Amino acid sequence: MDPRSECIDFINPATGEKFGEVRVTTEAEVRQACREMGAAQPAWGAKPLKERARIIKEFQRVVIDATDELTAVVNQDHGKSRGDALHEVIMTVDKIHQYAKHAPKWLGRRRVPPGLYFFRRYYTERTPFGVVGIIGPWNYPIDLMLPPIIAALLAGNTVVVKPSEVAAATGVMLESLFQRVPELAPFVRFVHGDARTGAALVKSKPDLLFLTGSVKTGRIVAQMAAEDMTPFLYELGGKDPMLVLEDADIKAAAKWGVWGAFYTTGQACVSVERVYVHEKVYDEFVAAVLEETAKFSVGYSPDIDNPYRMGPLTFERQCDIVNTHLHDAVSKGGEVLMGGKQTGMFIEPTVLVNVDHTMQVMVDETFGPVLPIMKVQDDTHAIQMANHSYMGLSAYVWSRDLAHAKRVAEQLQVGVVNINDTMSHYPVSLLPFGGVKLSGNARTHGAGEVTQFTHTKSYAVGGPPLPFDPATLVRYPGQYRLGKAILGGFFGVTPEQRVEPVVDYLTNDPKARKAVSRTVVGLGATAVAGLAAALLFRARR
Ligand code: NAD
Repeated sequence: MDPRSECIDFINPATGEKFGEVRVTTEAEVRQACREMGAAQPAWGAKPLKERARIIKEFQRVVIDATDELTAVVNQDHGKSRGDALHEVIMTVDKIHQYAKHAPKWLGRRRVPPGLYFFRRYYTERTPFGVVGIIGPWNYPIDLMLPPIIAALLAGNTVVVKPSEVAAATGVMLESLFQRVPELAPFVRFVHGDARTGAALVKSKPDLLFLTGSVKTGRIVAQMAAEDMTPFLYELGGKDPMLVLEDADIKAAAKWGVWGAFYTTGQACVSVERVYVHEKVYDEFVAAVLEETAKFSVGYSPDIDNPYRMGPLTFERQCDIVNTHLHDAVSKGGEVLMGGKQTGMFIEPTVLVNVDHTMQVMVDETFGPVLPIMKVQDDTHAIQMANHSYMGLSAYVWSRDLAHAKRVAEQLQVGVVNINDTMSHYPVSLLPFGGVKLSGNARTHGAGEVTQFTHTKSYAVGGPPLPFDPATLVRYPGQYRLGKAILGGFFGVTPEQRVEPVVDYLTNDPKARKAVSRTVVGLGATAVAGLAAALLFRARR
């Protein structure tokens, strides 16, 4: 087939209807896009930060104007409700707003103390990588794409973006938003396609790669990136545990645990994927979960007044993973208390008990509407089970005693812990978000999301070395005692360490007094000159 004619169909998962298509970008076009963004970067990077922030604010205006278009396309592309798509727009705009506001401060010059080099000035500046390649997933096709693009742009990079083939219509929509800001459009390029297009982008050697996706893809991209030593930031999967302690508010834990598991059909990286409940409250919790789950209506509507709490899964492969996990669990003794059936792309909200860590559903990411609940003896057992994972994105702890919850939270190997709620950490645009273990090495949200798209460049600035500067004197031979006096005088831990080498230097070195007096005279002269300059400056004002 002529690669130029290959297309990706846009399919509504709820109805199965095709609503459009996009031509796949060829490998040669991906390489060309990277070259062109490389050529465009100096012009964008040279713009003052405040100017870049002004242009990004213009983009923010365009996004807000396009809200209804965006929620309509995500609703068709992904199957989530218009309301859930609107949450994405809100979270995205919040981040754009904060990043544009704070970037000049986050990326500004920082003074660095001079250490022993008193007569020079030291500072750092943030410099862009160059071209950033951003590869994204389908599950939050606005919120997981736009913030890293905006952060990379604010930092002075140009960007080549590869949206997920599963949310290709949203990718095309996002591309059109950039085209609506003529000052920004020349510095962002979209390429469309599946894993092959993503691989072509990696092989095009951007200056930095940023991937949000599965652990499986992360491993593949890490290996490819390593071949060219391309720096690689990744935000990968989660298997977020929820711990219900003995003193938890059981009704609230059940209500919001169910919501955290089934919201956007369980297809969020921070969905509640497994629950550990203290044995004393286990029966009460399971009964409350069944009551809440029964309320979770399932269906699809393209209207803004959608009556359903849960929509379809987004594509067939995701349904297969959910069913594989359910079958595996049941074959090993797991019991489905509610749900479990599939109709079309809809799988009922499913509550599973009698589970353990021999089952895939407790160790691998399910990414679907399944809530497996395991009974534990005490906090230690709950913590052990929660930490028994190769992923570590976020975790949820429920207890009426905040100090108790905090003690447990501190022992969890994750990037974020949310106490007495589910998923309310993610929408907070300045709260750093990201995982440990295989869940990721990057941080989104807040200053870190922007600064990770920069190198730190350091400057040491001043006139030629001054002859009386101790830092100059130690460059000459025969200054061993002076060096030891500096070492002890500045860094000695005990009084002896501080005083003895200085005394040794002053009493034993014939050149010492001369050097000290030259230094003192030099320092004095510098102070007098500084004072005079300050007085003159004040007088002129
Ligand atoms: P995925 O790994 O299948 O795909 C992600 C992107 O990588 C897609 O654009 C895909 O085309 C591309 N890709 C796939 N193979 C590639 C290859 N060999 N080379 C280059 N690119 C390649 O993930 P997905 O199914 O789209 O997204 C769901 C996953 O993302 C889940 O695991 C979820 O937990 C994770 N996720 C993580 C976060 C986070 O912040 N940590 C947020 C959302 C989603």
